[in-house]
Amino acid sequence: MVDYLVLGDEPHLRARECSHCGALYFDRRNACAKCFRTEFGTRALSNEGRLRAFTFVTRAKRPYVSAIVDLEGGGVVKANLLEVDQPGQIRPGLPVVLDTVTAGTDDDGTEAVAFGYRPRGGDQ
Ligand SMILES: [Zn+2]
Repeated sequence: MVDYLVLGDEPHLRARECSHCGALYFDRRNACAKCFRTEFGTRALSNEGRLRAFTFVTRAKRPYVSAIVDLEGGGVVKANLLEVDQPGQIRPGLPVVLDTVTAGTDDDGTEAVAFGYRPRGGDQ
């Protein structure tokens, strides 16, 4: 579970944004790495982006694709690609969209939700 994943009718990612220079961060930090100011706000990020880079992870029990996604309007996210099992299906620059997957339930019956990106239909 990650605290920057906001669930609800329209799940999306939320980042901390430097109030001075607009740099985006997913982790908590005391000062901006770019301008060293210490004021931050929060910003909802776009659910759409493009694949910057990816790696096929085949040593796992169930192989998956680890990807770096450049979000539209800013933000870079590392996440798994969903609905992709053939290397030929993906390439750098591929349009992708955020999707959530249930990652099982814990002992209390609380559903764990993870997120990833799947290829966007249409403008490929
Ligand atoms: Zn800054």
